[in-house]
Amino acid sequence: MLLWFRNDLRTHDNPALHFFLSEVSAQELLSSDMPHKAVFFISEKQWLEHHWSPIKIDLIKRHAYSLVEELAQVNIKLEIVEVPDFSAQKTYLSEYCDVNNISHVIANSEVEINEQQRDKTCVELGIPLKLFEADVIVPKGKVLNKSGEMYKVFTPFKKAWLTYVKEHGFEYLGRAETKNSVKPLASAIKSNCKEAISTSNTLSNHWPLASVIETEVLPSFIQQKLALYNDQRDIPSIKGTSGLSPYLAIGAISPRYLLFVVLNHYPDLLTASDSPKFSWVNELIWREFYRNLLFHFPQLCKNQCFKDKYSSIAWHNNLPYFKAWCDGRTGYPIVDAAMRQLNQTGWMHNRLRMVVASFLTKHLLIDWRWGEQYFMEHLIDGDLASNNGGWQWAASTGCDSQPYFRIFNPTRQSERFDPKGDFIRKFLPELKEIPDKEIHAPHRFITKSNLDIYWPTIVEHKEARLMALDFYK
Ligand SMILES: Cc1cc2nc3c(=O)[nH]c(=O)nc-3n(C[C@H](O)[C@H](O)[C@H](O)COP(=O)(O)OP(=O)(O)OC[C@H]3O[C@@H](n4cnc5c(N)ncnc54)[C@H](O)[C@@H]3O)c2cc1C
Repeated sequence: MLLWFRNDLRTHDNPALHFFLSEVSAQELLSSDMPHKAVFFISEKQWLEHHWSPIKIDLIKRHAYSLVEELAQVNIKLEIVEVPDFSAQKTYLSEYCDVNNISHVIANSEVEINEQQRDKTCVELGIPLKLFEADVIVPKGKVLNKSGEMYKVFTPFKKAWLTYVKEHGFEYLGRAETKNSVKPLASAIKSNCKEAISTSNTLSNHWPLASVIETEVLPSFIQQKLALYNDQRDIPSIKGTSGLSPYLAIGAISPRYLLFVVLNHYPDLLTASDSPKFSWVNELIWREFYRNLLFHFPQLCKNQCFKDKYSSIAWHNNLPYFKAWCDGRTGYPIVDAAMRQLNQTGWMHNRLRMVVASFLTKHLLIDWRWGEQYFMEHLIDGDLASNNGGWQWAASTGCDSQPYFRIFNPTRQSERFDPKGDFIRKFLPELKEIPDKEIHAPHRFITKSNLDIYWPTIVEHKEARLMALDFYK
């Protein structure tokens, strides 16, 4: 049996690993009949084709090398194999299975269309693939409307999701353990430590490993921040959200684990959906909603608008505007500071993702797919389901999206969510001398003598809004 790690870089709540350990005896684990018992592919060519950012790739590599050590504790030798793409993964597996007479390749499924296609061809090639599901709390496809179809609106999906969890519970598998306690494979620990160290001085370093998140960040978030989440989640200058999305995106933390931990603290949370703390669970359900959308409508992976009627929109796609948006030079401080946060840190606050996505699509009339790709290329938490969902929500082309006539006023958003300009000043230090009241629309304040400190606005909100309304109509 061979264990194949993909988007599930963890030893807790990992159904494939759990099954593997329940089927393979401790003696088999220690026997040297196979070069290794588990594999993870680094496939940079494929990842770049999927527009994964360097910072996300770095986070994946750090977790993969750390997983080598963790798995050694349960006597599983994980081999990290570099192959360019999915095609080479299939060739490797096919040969490995033949040479080592593998009865089963055990893995957790991935929802994206190319990954699904790869798995399908693996089976066609005779690779004995057995799949589990590890990326959601409720198995995909279980929450359906009365006609047996996927909900097209979030709120009824959420209600049905909650009913499902109350009726069926959810499975949380805990941390991997061997059946018999055998000494960990010292050789596996040693041999991979070197590689782990060599990747240490890299881009994602200020994001700790998921093990630290589990023991330090998550408990303190739940104890200290959850009660304030509802009030603080929209304020980008405050660290009011969990910061867990990078770990969920690469499968280093399980969503079922998160629900398990939060319900341990607040057992009645699922029946208290108007409590402020529930808002956080609500976001986890949005994540489930978007993953279910990909599951039911795989064409979303292929650049399609969820609402067909918007497919023929003739986006203006003005390149200099796009460049100004990417570089944070639109002249709207909240948009520019947000884009600089993304470019400098690989992460952006959710409220700002909504603001900049709305600005790109509705003020600049640029195709949401350009923004979606730019986000994937820069986000540490780039995730096709949530990113596509978020972009299509903002562009009004998606499932249960903003109506097209709701157009964020960036200055108003800035006044509401960054009232003193703390966030703006952090990422636009050139505006640090501008008084709080003026910082959201600083051009009134900037005189001829200091004109060069900031760009003029590339479009005027009032005109852009009218144009967008007309355009979408
Ligand atoms: C245009 C746009 C693009 C986005 N792209 C991504 C992306 O590529 N990857 C990604 O993980 N999220 C994406 N989101 C959703 C959201 O912005 C991030 O999940 C959130 O900012 C992560 O911060 P956090 O972990 O502190 O979230 P918290 O507020 O602590 O929420 C907990 C978890 O819930 C999930 N979640 C929160 N908000 C949302 C949401 N709106 N939609 C779906 N799931 C959510 C995330 O997994 C998050 O980690 C996008 C949103 C928009 C509007």
